[in-house]
Amino acid sequence: MVEILTVIGARPQFIKAAAVSRMIAAQSGLCERLLHTGQHFDTNMSDVFFEEMGIPAPTHHLGVAGGSHGEMTGRMLEGIEQVLLETRPDVVMVYGDTNSTVAGALAASKLHIPVAHVEAGLRSFNRRMPEELNRILTDHCSDLLFTPTSTATNNLRAEGVPFERILQVGDVMYDAARHFGALVAERDFSKLTGFDAGVPFVLATVHRQENTDDPERLAVIIEGLAAVTDTLPVALPLHPRTRGRLQNAGLGAALERLTLLEPLGYLDMVVLEKNAALIATDSGGVQKEAFFHGVPCVTLRDETEWVELVDAGWNRLVPPLSVNAVSSAVHEALGSKGKAVAPYGDGNASAQIIASLVEVASR
Ligand code: UDP
Repeated sequence: MVEILTVIGARPQFIKAAAVSRMIAAQSGLCERLLHTGQHFDTNMSDVFFEEMGIPAPTHHLGVAGGSHGEMTGRMLEGIEQVLLETRPDVVMVYGDTNSTVAGALAASKLHIPVAHVEAGLRSFNRRMPEELNRILTDHCSDLLFTPTSTATNNLRAEGVPFERILQVGDVMYDAARHFGALVAERDFSKLTGFDAGVPFVLATVHRQENTDDPERLAVIIEGLAAVTDTLPVALPLHPRTRGRLQNAGLGAALERLTLLEPLGYLDMVVLEKNAALIATDSGGVQKEAFFHGVPCVTLRDETEWVELVDAGWNRLVPPLSVNAVSSAVHEALGSKGKAVAPYGDGNASAQIIASLVEVASR
């Protein structure tokens, strides 16, 4: 029996792990234990995903939330190491690019436990992003690097990661969008937003530190989205960090024009994504989900890791530098479609990950 310890802690990781955990549970010879670092802990940032997506309950919960990056990562490292020493798994799986990812990878590699990184190789080439540092460090201490795209594979090759460690499997978020997206067809979404059925609307999310922690950029985004409401309503499920930063930001008048929502569960989020006329976001995952559901996207950042969608015309990169830049980009992108492309695999990334874990374990 190959024992996998999965280290997760933040919302996007629950969604990615949900896709893979389903397959692990169905595969004989593999068993999974889950360590939740506690990075995201509220009901609507954590519990709802475990319930809706059938993720196994964590066997370990570190309760590490809040604090500076160093403090949080340090406490996680200490807690994860302890669990690894007690449980001695055969492999540690980590996802994406958060502090939980790098803490899991570093703790395991120092104990010579093989590390598998799902969503390896992504780069924004902006080292001021905490996520970029987490990705680089995690990739370079991982043994199995599961990449979602050829761009990600090429990034790793350019950094000298040995070829035999890299496996391009596609994007597990595509697996999740296909599997869970099929479950929401009948879901009534108008009660989530209060918009009348059939009314075109924009769905927005904002949570990247470069936007939330820069008062000017945050004001431009909120006022830009408020300007969009001259034409069509905008729903904004608020990430807790963004809600916190908005509290004393003096943007009350603009915020009143937006339909502010609590963070949504994945199924509610998917139903809004599918029905939106356009998605404006700084999220990595939401950019791709817009494409998976055939919705045009405006990305409110200076750069993106998911360059394929910009090249194919599904996504427009719009640095939030002026209110007009934001609102006119949204208006211009409305109704647009990109080219038919399939850069994220065939929706079977999780199955390929499992097959490779089984193969490695049998060596
Ligand atoms: N998401 C969600 N509820 C929300 C906002 C986002 O379920 O209110 C989902 C979204 O559908 C996607 C994931 O969270 O699957 C993206 O996570 P996030 O934007 O927090 O992180 P990123 O992808 O930027 O790392």
